[in-house]
Amino acid sequence: MEKKIILGGHKIIKGMEVGQETWDNLPNRNRKFISNKVNLDLSHRCPLECLRCARQTYESDGKGGLKKKPIPGRDITIDEFEKITDYFARIQFCGQYSDPIHHPHFIDFLRIIKRKDLISQVHTASSFKSDKWFKEAFEANPDSQWWFGIDGLPKDSHKYRVHQNGELHFKRLKMARQILNKKPIWQYIVFNYNEQDLETAMKMAEEIDVIFNVINSGRWENKKPDKLAPKKKKGIEVNEFEEQN
Ligand code: SF4
Repeated sequence: MEKKIILGGHKIIKGMEVGQETWDNLPNRNRKFISNKVNLDLSHRCPLECLRCARQTYESDGKGGLKKKPIPGRDITIDEFEKITDYFARIQFCGQYSDPIHHPHFIDFLRIIKRKDLISQVHTASSFKSDKWFKEAFEANPDSQWWFGIDGLPKDSHKYRVHQNGELHFKRLKMARQILNKKPIWQYIVFNYNEQDLETAMKMAEEIDVIFNVINSGRWENKKPDKLAPKKKKGIEVNEFEEQN
């Protein structure tokens, strides 16, 4: 019996009997499947000790971590990265246990993404690289979208992002705006020490012409009291300000 399946407007008949035109238009025929995205934790490396990071349940320098066991993981190799980028069209670098910029070959990875014409997003909170390094990274692939974690006014961000130099990170955000083709994003998680500064921070973002992204963390909901929780447990909506202005 003839079996008809409609796939994206193309007919596939009798199971494996597929017309040439349909075959040519299938998204995956032993070659890269380009419709999906992957998020990578590139390594086990991060110099920060953000207070509620998963890393804090492993080792630390003793300023807040529990010193249970070493951070798990290793650096992804260049060969592995080549393989991953043959199969995924969107690469997101949003580490849960690492900051991507501390992978020893991170700039090479950006060049690979550029060469393969893929889409990428970089999430970083670490200020522990030089201006020269950031410039080289931005120029390696100006089409990447960069997210800078600065939780509060730059002078206060280290209150959560322990060891971060927030003012230096803000300077890199401005530099990114000058070099990248996509507007970089200032990501701001609302905490008790920064909730009153949202409006000032939004104006700062506007002045340097970057996107401002407020994150109302879900970690306060149905949890025991946390000294970092904002007074408004669910955080603050940006449009609260828009309505006032
Ligand atoms: S920058 Fe990211 S990986 Fe590093 S400590 Fe902070 S949350 Fe964890």
